[in-house]
Amino acid sequence: MTGRGRILVVGAGLSGAVIGRLLAEAGLGVTILEARDHIAGNCHTRRDPATGVLVHVYGPHIFHTDDAEVWDYVRGFATFRPYLNRVKTTVAGKVYSLPVNLHTINQFFGRAMNPDEARAFIAGRAEATIAEPANFEEQALKFIGRDLYEAFFRGYTVKQWGCAPTELPAAILRRLPLRFSYDDNYFFHRFQGMPEEGYTAMVAGILDHPGIEVRLGHRFARATGGGHDHVFYSGPLDGYFDFELGRLGYRTLDFERVEHAGDFQGCAVMNYGDVEVPWTRIAEHGHFAPWERHDRSVAFREYSRACGPGDIPYYPIRLVAEKALLVRYVERARAEAGVSFVGRLGTYRYLDMDVTIREALDAARAFLRHRAAGTAMPAFTVAPL
Ligand code: UDP
Repeated sequence: MTGRGRILVVGAGLSGAVIGRLLAEAGLGVTILEARDHIAGNCHTRRDPATGVLVHVYGPHIFHTDDAEVWDYVRGFATFRPYLNRVKTTVAGKVYSLPVNLHTINQFFGRAMNPDEARAFIAGRAEATIAEPANFEEQALKFIGRDLYEAFFRGYTVKQWGCAPTELPAAILRRLPLRFSYDDNYFFHRFQGMPEEGYTAMVAGILDHPGIEVRLGHRFARATGGGHDHVFYSGPLDGYFDFELGRLGYRTLDFERVEHAGDFQGCAVMNYGDVEVPWTRIAEHGHFAPWERHDRSVAFREYSRACGPGDIPYYPIRLVAEKALLVRYVERARAEAGVSFVGRLGTYRYLDMDVTIREALDAARAFLRHRAAGTAMPAFTVAPL
């Protein structure tokens, strides 16, 4: 590999695969170390041996984007089938449509309002005195008013994040739409779909390049990063530094398997808004691939809890305490030469798949520009703070 440039990528999830591919196509030699025994990170999919259903091992992943280049990119490695995320929620023994739309409002209040009537009705219940929502709860009260907030958001959010909604940033709720129509598509984005053979097959396609070597079951240690032109690190930022300043907080998930003859719940995702129900949602994975037929179904109840040292990190918490620690890790990272931190874990941010791919493409291109110009590649191409 002498003369070709040697790049080490840590992690064979979306970030690592996309960066590795772009650099391999530019003629560099890429080694990817992956600690787990599979590629594709938390969007890993696997056929369930008992039912034949394609399972999203680390919970539901639905691809949606407004980024035309990213949409073309993923479709270069997988056949995407049309798929709209239509989520339901069970609250106090009744089933409602999500995200909050005209159907939800009419169901919840037992009315038959048209869009203008519903808009005026919700405006009358929303807390107009809140100008700049300081947290999740204020954002919700301003957005939909107390009744809908308490039914659909408070319990779910307490279970999902393990803290009071007043402690959480308003931005988490801004992920969700409020619609005065019967459109129950969970996402706003122009391009939405599901890879026919799953995300792992798609990531395998991205990694399939003669310039890329993937080593599964290899845990990266900072001491072994030397000898490379550059390291792209997509593992946990605090883990890179052996947690020497403490641990950044994450939520992890536990999944409880349910096997069923036939259709278990009639939809892919059923949320549970009541705080008394211990799981946040149930995902029935056969519904993510409605073009397939299976006799038996498999679903998973999803439980959220604080992530301990041996657990898989899912959601970065990013409360005030975590942000203060993050600032200190970011300082350390910026002082480290020859390594860039990328992706959800490397930058400790709540990232959708399309944003992860966009940032990975941008990071790899930035690296090539710096290499050509003889300038130093920064530790972060997206500010994590
Ligand atoms: N949320 C909620 N009730 C729901 C769905 C979502 O309160 O039925 C809140 C919850 O705090 C969650 C956030 O909205 O963390 C964002 O929801 P999203 O569905 O985007 O979460 P993800 O699919 O990423 O877990």
